[in-house]
Amino acid sequence: MDTRHSDLPVVVIGAGPVGLAAAAHLHERGLPFTVLEAGDGPAATVREWGHVRLFSPWRYNIDHAARRLLNEAGWVEPDPEVLPTGGQLAAEYLQPFADLPALKPHVRYGARVVAVTRLGMDRVRTAGRDAAPFLVRLAGGTDVLARAVLDATGTWTTPNVLGASGIPAPGESAAAPLVEHALPDVLGADRARFAGKRTMVVGAGHSAANTLLSLAELASQAPGTSVVWAIRSASPARTYGGEASDALPARGALGSRLRAHVDAGTVELLTAFGVQRITPTPDGAVEVSDGNRTARVDRIVSATGFRPDHSFVAELRLDLDPVLGSTRALAPLIDPNEHSCGTVPPHGVDELAHPEPGFYAIGVKSYGRAPTFLMATGYEQARSVVAALAGDWAAARDVQLDLPETGVCSSGQPLGGGRTLLPVFGQVETGTGCCGNSGT
Ligand SMILES: Cc1cc2nc3c(=O)[nH]c(=O)nc-3n(C[C@H](O)[C@H](O)[C@H](O)COP(=O)(O)OP(=O)(O)OC[C@H]3O[C@@H](n4cnc5c(N)ncnc54)[C@H](O)[C@@H]3O)c2cc1C
Repeated sequence: MDTRHSDLPVVVIGAGPVGLAAAAHLHERGLPFTVLEAGDGPAATVREWGHVRLFSPWRYNIDHAARRLLNEAGWVEPDPEVLPTGGQLAAEYLQPFADLPALKPHVRYGARVVAVTRLGMDRVRTAGRDAAPFLVRLAGGTDVLARAVLDATGTWTTPNVLGASGIPAPGESAAAPLVEHALPDVLGADRARFAGKRTMVVGAGHSAANTLLSLAELASQAPGTSVVWAIRSASPARTYGGEASDALPARGALGSRLRAHVDAGTVELLTAFGVQRITPTPDGAVEVSDGNRTARVDRIVSATGFRPDHSFVAELRLDLDPVLGSTRALAPLIDPNEHSCGTVPPHGVDELAHPEPGFYAIGVKSYGRAPTFLMATGYEQARSVVAALAGDWAAARDVQLDLPETGVCSSGQPLGGGRTLLPVFGQVETGTGCCGNSGT
């Protein structure tokens, strides 16, 4: 790190699980930091899917540095084997952590970052670049100077479109009032929008599976409720995943339960269905077409995955993989076209570095469009990057991952500190192997 700016904070953008983990490590390293969070509290995104139960138990969901700080404050750690909901993750871990005196004064809420650049430098200017601090602009116009920037903003606000070609299908914008973001609270707050209605879920990841199971349950309670599931691939096998072989039983059970509903006909499956056109009907429904077949539904749940928003860091020098939008060094390790069985080598600061020294995307955003991210992976990224910012390169490069297996793939040896198996929150299917993902 450039010592000329040692009085400036490291700015962490986003107070999700990974941004807060970075803050924990920055505190432990004695580096000044500021967390800028758009929401009005920590874990704003996690709270949006607060009704969804995670499939990784508590023991995988708590950052080690955060745990140390919480334990010092007398925190009672949740049962490590229990699966929290997103709401519990926020309320029982992230909120108390963000409220610790070591964190609280350094976290600013309602602080949406709209641009990051180098002070006095556009992207083209080279002379003196590395010596210039970062300038982080907030909505409203306030500028914050930083010695380094960690972008932990996630991908939740930039979902993929329904259109199979990666751009909105004709009619998609007009149908927007009938299209739901991934993971509506079907059995809770959003129930009225689905009860008695015919809903199409588009996508083949865990988000789709979660929503399909909720809709199937609603169909057993509310007459007239029906469910159509559209996937782009020829088989739902990858969504069903490892089932009984999954090291995380909850994740395996999700696939088994979904398979049972498809077999029973509660969930009508349309395979090889890429959305080509959406046509609103005069009576308020929509017709969704793949060019050959048409399904008439009342609502559509778009569970097609997410993509990173690099627009607010566009004045920085980024080395982005043309496929995934992760760094180019990380892409081959996570590319669902190549790594369908989900073996991810441990990775840290070296794989996350851009040509812009001092800028890193960490957390789910670091994976770009690869829909296979685990929190524990992000915690290790945060630890490694912060160690590098502190100048401790030995610790920064000693990356370790110890994560549960999906059971989808039996091949592959542990790499370095362990093997990462990949759950999928977006769409599954591009890969040719066992748990590839990212198409519809
Ligand atoms: C439904 C669901 C279930 C999941 N289950 C699991 C699981 O069981 N196990 C697991 O390991 N992983 C799981 N994940 C994956 C992943 O771990 C989570 O998505 C996790 O929340 C990612 O953390 P993050 O900190 O990278 O990003 P996020 O949690 O998305 O946090 C990003 C933060 O940045 C803020 N922000 C965004 N833009 C700006 C801006 N411009 N300025 C300031 N702040 C901004 C947001 O408000 C948010 O608070 C799940 C994901 C989903 C969607």
